[in-house]
Amino acid sequence: MSDTVIAGSDEAFNEALAHMGLRRFEMPKPKLNGNVSLFEVVRERCLATLADMADEYASEGGIAFGFADHREFNAFAQRTSRDMICLYVPAIRSLWAFFHGLMGQREIFPWIDDTGRFEGQPPQSKGDLFFVRPPDKPANEDVEIRRKLAVALFDTALDFMLKHEVAHLWNGHVALLHAKESSAAFQEMRLVDGGLDISTVQTLEYDADAFAIQQAFARAYRLNPFAEYSEGFLKDHKIPLDGDHSTTWYFTWFAIYAVFRLFDESCEAADLPQWTHPPAALRQACLVTSVAAVCARQGWSKLNPTEWERVASEAGLEAERLVCRLRGFQLNANAYLSLWTAPVAEQIQNYLTVWETLGPQLAAMPRGPQPARP
Ligand SMILES: [Zn+2]
Repeated sequence: MSDTVIAGSDEAFNEALAHMGLRRFEMPKPKLNGNVSLFEVVRERCLATLADMADEYASEGGIAFGFADHREFNAFAQRTSRDMICLYVPAIRSLWAFFHGLMGQREIFPWIDDTGRFEGQPPQSKGDLFFVRPPDKPANEDVEIRRKLAVALFDTALDFMLKHEVAHLWNGHVALLHAKESSAAFQEMRLVDGGLDISTVQTLEYDADAFAIQQAFARAYRLNPFAEYSEGFLKDHKIPLDGDHSTTWYFTWFAIYAVFRLFDESCEAADLPQWTHPPAALRQACLVTSVAAVCARQGWSKLNPTEWERVASEAGLEAERLVCRLRGFQLNANAYLSLWTAPVAEQIQNYLTVWETLGPQLAAMPRGPQPARP
């Protein structure tokens, strides 16, 4: 690809940021020891995932991707001369720090160390937390098992976030917003004023979540990234079993709940009058039927919907417990579990009602990836 195309992609990205009053995140230089910024690795990873998803994104500059320097756990999808995805810096930092923070505490998931197969010290939280070994360097086989689990959880969470943004582009959400409200970006946290009402926005968000979670479980099935933790994990947790994917299903829900929960925390801090998503537990509970259906249809799992509900709610509650513990809050398990009953059916009913008018509008929009224009 020519330099012009790359420059065009950069320019489009900068323009979109400027339009929203955001600053582009300046990539930190590598450390003297050769370690590179976590953001460098995330950027490469995301571009590779996007290239795998669509031929339109496979050439350099086919999609604009980058980070915004801002204090919110946020992201946006936009389409100008090309498709564009922007993640805000805290979304990456807080997930990375959260998963590493958990693993630094020996009393959390003690079975990791108990099984005898795994050795090593918990990761130290030094100032270098956000610098990592460059991907082209040979893997360090001695990497501590706890750090490895933290990274696998982060990868799952990142993959979900990225594909959620892809859904806003591919399922016509961004195009619909443009049709209603000129050139706005589809933003996660900030409610779209004017063009779309809150129930429409929430339904679009549910549509993006459903797309992303099906992709997340496809990836989980394919890579089975948590299989190696099964031995100790299954001794310690009573969850419905599903062959050698049991542990992976659990941790996939765990990682995705963490995304929802940290996102909520940021919405709370920003004191938003209306949220674009329901609270984390309800948001997660609404997605269980999608996962159960896709896994049954594809033959990825033998779990029935009730068993899926148990795996997902156990994982979510554990993530909730750990967030509370790290933050020094009291866990309210009843508040978490109460969202798993009646409100789910009601919430899904709301989505379906909105969908009756929304579905046909989206069907008229360009779907899927769009090729970049110069
Ligand atoms: Zn969204």
